Amino acid sequence: MNTVRIEEMNWQDIKETINQGYTTVVFGIGSIEQHGPHLPTLTDSLIGDVLANKVAIMLKKALQAPTIRVGCSSHHLAFPGTISYKESTLKAVIHDYVHSLAHHGFKNIILIPSHGGNFKSTQEAIDEIKDEYPECKIFGYTDLFGLLDILHKLSGEFGVSGEESGAHAGESETSFMLALANDLVKKERFEIGYVGEIGAEQSQLIFEKGMTALTKNGILGDPSTATREKGEVYIEKLVSILVDEIKKELKD
Ligand SMILES: [Zn+2]
Repeated sequence: MNTVRIEEMNWQDIKETINQGYTTVVFGIGSIEQHGPHLPTLTDSLIGDVLANKVAIMLKKALQAPTIRVGCSSHHLAFPGTISYKESTLKAVIHDYVHSLAHHGFKNIILIPSHGGNFKSTQEAIDEIKDEYPECKIFGYTDLFGLLDILHKLSGEFGVSGEESGAHAGESETSFMLALANDLVKKERFEIGYVGEIGAEQSQLIFEKGMTALTKNGILGDPSTATREKGEVYIEKLVSILVDEIKKELKD
């Protein structure tokens, strides 16, 4: 099989593949939102798409459903280009995805949010829907601070601080994008954003008052030390961490 992407397959091959035991399906949940003056608005969707694709391949016997490209980004609406779903919209889309995928016979449905604003709605949607599908395991990697911690540790291995690595368009995310879509990154516009602590208090401020309460240029972190090479390492390591978490979840 030369693709795991359902979008690139026909119904007959999909049916056969499910019958052969490909009963796990993975999809990313990204965003179309500002990512500072230097990164494109598709950043989270591209990263989510790549993570879900690599996770599906590494899990084996898994397919990838289309990435949900728009997410909950109301806190970014002060910046042009951001398109946002209401939380209720995203949850409704997730419900419809799960309904369709379960109907086709997928038994393990794995959700990978790649944008901070989606984590809460993703977990809520899973909690709301899982009792309807007792034959399925529905799992989302929805530990936002756990993910930030992983990213900061990966950056730390290259001597980059957690504050520079950041939470949005900083060193780690910019490195991802240099690895994935170098031509879409405006390197001459790298500039420092908010580089203070990012904890529960700051994230509450952002979600309630919008990104501009913390950062005028839309960056949380500092992209100036980002490189393509680091991005490649971050992606591979993050994929293997996600695969380990998912395997643990699927076991019990
Ligand atoms: Zn992002």
